[in-house]
This record gives sequence, structure tokens and C-alpha cells, in this order.
Amino acid sequence: MNLTKLGKIFADQEKFRIKQAEKLIFKDLISDWKQASVFSLALREKLQENLPLAIENKLFISKDGRSAKAIIFLEDGFKIETALMAHGDGRNTACLSCQVGCPLACKFCISGTNFKRNLTLDEILSQALFWARYLKEKKIGRLSNIVFMGSGEPFLNYQNVFQAISYLNSPDYFDISARKISISTIGVSEGIRKMVNEKYQVNLAVSLHFVDERTRVEMMPATKKYSLKKMWEAIDYYIKETNRKVMFEYILIKGLNDSKKEAEALALIMKKPLYAVNLIRYNKTGKLEPSETKAITDFRGVLRNRGVEVVERHRFNEDIFGACGQLIGK
Ligand code: SF4
Repeated sequence: MNLTKLGKIFADQEKFRIKQAEKLIFKDLISDWKQASVFSLALREKLQENLPLAIENKLFISKDGRSAKAIIFLEDGFKIETALMAHGDGRNTACLSCQVGCPLACKFCISGTNFKRNLTLDEILSQALFWARYLKEKKIGRLSNIVFMGSGEPFLNYQNVFQAISYLNSPDYFDISARKISISTIGVSEGIRKMVNEKYQVNLAVSLHFVDERTRVEMMPATKKYSLKKMWEAIDYYIKETNRKVMFEYILIKGLNDSKKEAEALALIMKKPLYAVNLIRYNKTGKLEPSETKAITDFRGVLRNRGVEVVERHRFNEDIFGACGQLIGK
């Protein structure tokens, strides 16, 4: 898919023709120009040759059929992964990647290996389009939610991510409410501050994971540059300007960050308006182990007793190695 090419191909056509083409791609979700019977054969052939709609992929569906992941093959030979979670209540969430690999190399995340480059706008949108087509074909419903939580740090590909959001949000394209789009960052303070002025009121999630800065830097080496101090300042500025909730993601890793002492420390930090915690049981990618169920219950209990808003992420896609931190692992 190449949206720039679309403009060029239709440059000599009447204006309504490009609108027809966009409707066919984003609303009717066609995957082959042969299905575009409103166009002449000559135009269809030109489109087929210059702008094929097929998205090269390898699809994996989880045993319960509620989630899936896809490897998408890019034009230059690189590949990315994207995941889908069908919640069964009408919500269908696509988890999108924004970079090939990730330059930030967090030690608990397999996506953080092998960084190559930023994804283009079209490559980001192709992932959403892929799942929109899949949901239609399987008669599951429509794509309703987006999370930028696949490979990559969205604020390091800021322009393409926010341009993609404009398409995801637009009624002419994906028509997904901004409130149903979330961006997850490790705490890139410049990006958090910049986001305040965006027209799209998307949700902000921050990968906190460790309250002790020394351990955080050890496990998430890039946070040496994006210190906790700068991050808290940027988040408080974001909340002051937008009055919007920030979700702090906390991966529970056995023996590393799941003690009651750490829960108490986290509860103290979270005692602020519009701060909420999302607890995620670590998905195994290497030597580290996920926390025991009891440790998770105790951790959650401490937070709740201290009045902290806590949610727990449902675990999807583990059997196909497509859960959080596992994308592009296998
Ligand atoms: S957790 Fe996020 S920021 Fe860290 S390596 Fe993985 S994708 Fe990159």
C-alpha cells in the first residue's frame, strides 16, 4: 500500500474517483483491484500493477480463536509483527508496531533486539488494514481499538505515528475514536510534552515497570537518557494541561519487582489524581520468570488497599508467542 502513489495514479482522473478508491480500500476493505467494478478495466489494471492491495503476511491464530498475530513482510525484506485481540464484547483491538525492532533494548522484551528503522505511515496503516480485513472476513466485527504497543517506541517515530492516528481517527478511513487509541512510551519526556498540543485526544500509557531508578536503568537501559525526574515532570505537565488519565504499565517479574516493598513504593508514587496502574504478568521471553499468582494477588492487594486504581491486563496470544514483549520473537 502506498497512499502517495494513489494520489499520483488518480492525478489525471476526476476528483471523485480517488474518493471512490479510498472508500474501496478503507470502507469496503477490498484486497484486490479486481473487486473494484466501478473502475474501468484499464484503470483496474493500472492500479493492480502500481498499487497492489495484497498485504504479504503469515498469520497465527490462538487456540481459543480470540486472538491472533501476523508477521507482515515489508517491501525491503524486513518484517514486523502485529497482534489482534477480540474481546468478545464488540471490542477488537489491534496492537501496532511503529518501528522494525526497537532501539531501546529493554531486557525483558524481545522486540528490543535487532532495530532496523522507523516504519512509514503506510506500513503502520497496513497493519490496521490487515486486521480490519481479517475481522470482516471472519465476520467478527469491526476494528474498534488501537494500541501502539508492538515493536518500537512511538515517540521516536512521532510524525508517522500521529499521521497514522489522523487516518485511524478519520470517518473517511478507519473511523476509530481517539479515546480508543492508546500510545505507550517508556517515558520519552519530549514526546509526552509534544502530545499535549495534538488535536487527537488519544490515551497515554507509560511503561514504568520499576520504581527504583537503578533497577529501571539496568533493565531498560534507554531510560538513562529519559530519567524518571524528567518523566514525572512531563507527565504532571500533561495531566495539568489535558486533565486526562495516565495509565502506568507495570510488568511483574519474579523476584525483581514484585515484592510488597515495591508495591508500597509504587502505591506512594501513584497517590496522585488521574494516575492508574496496569499490572501485567511478565510474558516469558528469556531467562526471567513471571511472578507467581500469589505474588501478583498480594501486589495488587497492597495497591488497592492504598486506594490506587488498578487494572490487570487480560493475557492474550501467549500460545502463539504474540503477547506483550514477545512480538518478533519467533
Ligand atoms: S518494551 Fe517497548 S521500548 Fe522496551 S524494547 Fe520493547 S518495544 Fe522497545
